[in-house]
Amino acid sequence: MLIVQKYGGTSLQDIDRIHSAARRAASLAKQGSRVVVVVSAQGDSTDRMIQKAAQVNKRGAAREMDAYLAAGEQMSAGLMSMAIGAMGSPAVSLTGWQAGISTDGVHGNARIVDIDVSRIQRELDAGKAVVVAGFQGLDPAGDITTLGRGGSDTTAVALAAWLKADRCQIFTDVDGVYDRDPRLFPDATRFGRISYEKMLALIENGAQVLHDRSVEFARQYGIQIEVLSAFTGEPGTIVGGSEPF
Ligand code: ADP
Ligand code: ASP
Ligand code: MG
Repeated sequence: MLIVQKYGGTSLQDIDRIHSAARRAASLAKQGSRVVVVVSAQGDSTDRMIQKAAQVNKRGAAREMDAYLAAGEQMSAGLMSMAIGAMGSPAVSLTGWQAGISTDGVHGNARIVDIDVSRIQRELDAGKAVVVAGFQGLDPAGDITTLGRGGSDTTAVALAAWLKADRCQIFTDVDGVYDRDPRLFPDATRFGRISYEKMLALIENGAQVLHDRSVEFARQYGIQIEVLSAFTGEPGTIVGGSEPF
């Protein structure tokens, strides 16, 4: 069984949350699963980095912004890998490019065009959990790119597609996909399952719970995305799949 798990910023906000995500990944690895963990930058650090960059240069080049912003996810990856190690499971962190992720050259909103998964496969074969920094890749010029805000979801789904993963789990700070933002509308209702098309329509109307391109990849490659709470681990919402909706 190969499982891709993605943890968003809030789910990695502090050491307790990193430990709790690491514990979940390590326990799967100990049960014999091959585990790939995709991480976002911690908390609101990407927002803070964007503000800081603006203080340095209001119109900083997109290439340089990518070089800077990609570091947020890399810090999470190193920390998560060490946390999984602390749970007694061997782990290795990889940047997007070490993980073989190639993108086009659109800085700040790059598309994943190919993934050479050989390095990841080698690490999994060696019995390690693989932690991949989300939201980033390398363009044809060999420069660092980022995938657009929320793009770590797309890293996870694309890896699930290229690795032919059995499961793709997106852990976040709500317990699934609702018909409206559950933080703004307490009476919002949760979907047990939602089609790719409906999910894309929700995103178009502003639901940032999943990055739009992650759902497009999922539809293209027939990947079911599980959206669930990093805090409870209870089953959340399944996006896509073959059953009737
Ligand atoms: P992460 O850091 O895990 O990537 P995001 O902030 O990108 O998390 O996405 C989760 C947030 O999406 C939730 O906190 C919620 O407020 C918001 N959201 C907006 N619309 C919806 C919706 N229809 N269903 C669920 N969450 C939604
Ligand atoms: N850290 C990036 C962002 O805040 C990517 C992500 O979280 O998915 O947009
Ligand atoms: Mg997100």
